[in-house]
Amino acid sequence: MGRKAIYATQRRYQPYIDIIRRDLSLPDTLYIDFTFYPYKLKGGSAYYVRENYAEVCIQSNASHHWTISALMHELKHVEQMYNGRLKIFLNNDGTDWITTWFDVEMPWYDTTAKLKNPEIRDKYRNSPWEVEASAYEEQIERLFPNDRYAKLVASSKTIRMYKYE
Ligand SMILES: [Zn+2]
Repeated sequence: MGRKAIYATQRRYQPYIDIIRRDLSLPDTLYIDFTFYPYKLKGGSAYYVRENYAEVCIQSNASHHWTISALMHELKHVEQMYNGRLKIFLNNDGTDWITTWFDVEMPWYDTTAKLKNPEIRDKYRNSPWEVEASAYEEQIERLFPNDRYAKLVASSKTIRMYKYE
């Protein structure tokens, strides 16, 4: 009984990923490895592993709207890192993470602490790269106006691919 869960997969979301990538001017030479993961908490992450190689993880059991927003958010982080505005790397002895924004060192917030402590969570959300990624999410209507957004690949068993300009 109950509704059958339809999980987000890269195949289902590839048309959306393509549109977001194009909007962010991410070149084809940049390889992005996607993992759609059944997280219990809604979440996503992006990591720029090395030149032209990034990894994005997205929770796979959330709503269609959330999934597109999260892809926009995480791909915005990829764009920030690809263009070198945001850098996240281990320090020389590999004991600590360093975050820089426009080459200025910024505080780094531990993910676990971030979830537990609302004060740290707020500080994290107010960091410039997060503010920018959240603002980009708000552009979902521009990227996916009704006719495109309505073609919900996630709510259908068959994936309707469509051409975008
Ligand atoms: Zn973020």
